[in-house]
Amino acid sequence: MAHKILVVEDELDMNRQLCEFLANAGYETNGAHDGGKAIDLFHSYAPDLILLDVQLPVLMGTAVCRKIREVSGVPIIMLTAQTELDQVIAGLEAGADDYIKKPFDPSELLARIKARLRPIQFATDAGELKIGPLVIDVAGHEVRRDGERISLTPLEFSLLQTLAEKPKQVFSREMLLEKVWGYQYKADTRLVNVHVQRLRSKIEDDPEHPKIVVTERGVGYKAGQF
Ligand code: CA
Repeated sequence: MAHKILVVEDELDMNRQLCEFLANAGYETNGAHDGGKAIDLFHSYAPDLILLDVQLPVLMGTAVCRKIREVSGVPIIMLTAQTELDQVIAGLEAGADDYIKKPFDPSELLARIKARLRPIQFATDAGELKIGPLVIDVAGHEVRRDGERISLTPLEFSLLQTLAEKPKQVFSREMLLEKVWGYQYKADTRLVNVHVQRLRSKIEDDPEHPKIVVTERGVGYKAGQF
């Protein structure tokens, strides 16, 4: 079955071209031209991935992203114009997995889509991992704290799992981009920073003074030692 991609872009030509290009690459597509329609199609079309323009009529891309993240971890890639780079961080903070600048190289877009749709890698001895108060049920794809389930996106889960599997190792941002995002090439390390912040806001007692995902200054991140 072909993966379904929802293309949210208000420029009609651009939307149609993207849908055609993705259809030629073997995906099923559907297009939305404003933020309200994007939310409707998210529910009725149930896409496997969403390409989401930042500047949209009715509801901004960041607001669309936030609304979808309330109920779903579906991969979201933001489309941003060169001039909207400050909105990159806003988009990532709203829960987008990645972003790509317009105009983009189609092969780069495809590479990013493929990376986001690849199955999550499970540890070979997939059982339970622990970091402090967190129990990570790898096979069940669930994180619990004091018995309560914490809702993470697949990408946040993969980030946490990667750190928990090698509790003594410090991961550089580049290593995490490769392991968690699946990028072999140079990508924006702010992706890692923002996702670590989001993850902390869900799992830490005090996200400003994290104990579970710890920063190694000048190096990267590691699992907290308990
Ligand atoms: Ca636009």
